[in-house]
Amino acid sequence: MHELSLSSAIVNTVVKHADGRRVTLVELRVGKLRQVIPDTLEFYFEFVARDTVCEGARLEQQVIDARLRCRGCDHGWEIEIPAFRCPQCAGSDVEIASGDEFEVEAIEVEGPPAAALRDRPEGDLGKEAQCIGQR
Ligand SMILES: [Zn+2]
Repeated sequence: MHELSLSSAIVNTVVKHADGRRVTLVELRVGKLRQVIPDTLEFYFEFVARDTVCEGARLEQQVIDARLRCRGCDHGWEIEIPAFRCPQCAGSDVEIASGDEFEVEAIEVEGPPAAALRDRPEGDLGKEAQCIGQR
């Protein structure tokens, strides 16, 4: 049900920015560490979008690879399974460089020009983002 609360957060954010205009496209950046299943997210998005300006909007999901960066030597690398030690210097003082994104990148609306935004959806996402660690 993770995807349901994420969908609600997306729709709330988009509705706020759409300002009453009908939304045709929502571009999303989703980090791999979010462990979101794209089909499930799309399903819940359609469900939550009903009776809002997002109804019928296309959801485009850009998956961001998970990368870590070693603070000791600045080495950066991509991970499949989280392993929080630098393979170059074996240091453990590392930070997530990418992969925890969950952002609405842009929306397209009918009428006035499309709005460009990068906004973390509000709601319980805030807590989740803090757990993982915000930049
Ligand atoms: Zn290192």
